[in-house]
This record gives sequence, structure tokens and C-alpha cells, in this order.
Amino acid sequence: MAKYTGPVCRLCRREGAKMYLKGERCFSSKCPFSKPGAEGRDGRPAVFTPGQHGPERSRRKPSEYSVQLREKQKCKRSYGLLEKQFKMYYIKAERMKGITGENMLSLLERRLDNVVYRLGLGKSRAQARQIVNHGLVTVNGKNVNIPSFLVKAGDVVAVKSSKSKSTMFDDVKAGSLPSIPEWLSFDMEKLEGKVVRLPVRSDVSESIAEHLIVELYSK
Ligand code: SF4
Repeated sequence: MAKYTGPVCRLCRREGAKMYLKGERCFSSKCPFSKPGAEGRDGRPAVFTPGQHGPERSRRKPSEYSVQLREKQKCKRSYGLLEKQFKMYYIKAERMKGITGENMLSLLERRLDNVVYRLGLGKSRAQARQIVNHGLVTVNGKNVNIPSFLVKAGDVVAVKSSKSKSTMFDDVKAGSLPSIPEWLSFDMEKLEGKVVRLPVRSDVSESIAEHLIVELYSK
């Protein structure tokens, strides 16, 4: 599956928002957003935009299209997806009952790589995707190595018993866990999570204005 292989911090700088794409390192002083002067004036992001003319571009008043595009890019990049995959979630969400933007976020949250990340088994979504790709997790006792697999309410996502001794999960066993969202539960000893219910809009902690994405795609 195609994936972005360029510099990761550049993506956050482009969106002017921390997207926590590098796991633990995002909480260190090495994050460009932790450096002095990273706070922009008037609550706007600092002159961070990458590229030779980035700083000049960032001083311009953004158009409506540009605001919508940036929101879509931020969401897409947060979940580590490329355009074609991301748009499929919009198309699917549009066909579902309810509010399209909220449906789309719920679908994105239900991806298996995201569930592994939310359970704290991967420190970033990229690492979580690798864990899934390498066949380290099971869903309801069956091997699943497809990051885009959508979990359902009642599903049990667990680390394969033969892999549970991997040093990769030492921090989890030691209790170093992020706050687990309410739609999931986690058994630290068994390295096993359960989908208690399907995620809703309020379960998504990232600040995403999904209505802007819907406006962009529905043009
Ligand atoms: Fe880089 Fe993480 Fe900071 Fe984003 S949040 S700029 S990925 S260190």
C-alpha cells in the first residue's frame, strides 16, 4: 500500500498543528512546536510553513477553499492516509444514515491501526499500522494484518500470544498507557482490548472541523 515517506514534521508544520505523528518524540523538546517562538501572534500558528516561500504564503488571508483543503489535509495526514483512501471514507460516510462528517470520523476511528494506537499498543498511528501489517494482532482470535479493517462493537483486538513477550509492549505492561477512549476497554495483562461500542464524534480527541471536509468534497 502506498504511503507517505517524506519528512513527517513537515506535515505538522504545513498544517500549523501538532498531529503527533512521531509518537513519544512529539512530547519532547525536539518537536518544532515546543521551541521558543512556536506560538504565533493572535493565536495563529507561527511562521512555520515549509518551503522557500512558506512564510510569505502564511501571511496571506486564506481563501475559503484553502481553509477547507487544509482541514481535509490535516485529518487525512493525522490518520496517515493518502487521498484515494481518505476519500473512500467520505463516500462511504455519505451513504450512511446520519451526519456525513461524524460518520466519516467514526469510520476512521474504527480502522484497526487506529484501534491499536488508541489502545496504546503503538506509540503513533504509523507504528500501530506496522504492528498490524506485521501480523502482531488478532481480532476475535483470528489473525488480521489489514490496517484498514473496520472493527465492530463487541470485537476483541489482542496481541498474538506468541508476540506478547516482544519488548515493543514492555511500556504497556508497565502501565504506561495513554487515556483509553470510552468506546474501548483494555486489559493490560492480557494485552487485549474490546470495542465496547462504536465511536461517536465526541470520542475523537483531535480538533477536526469535519464540516469543512464535507463542504470541500461536496462541491
Ligand atoms: Fe514532528 Fe510530532 Fe511535533 Fe508533529 S507533533 S512536528 S510529528 S514532533
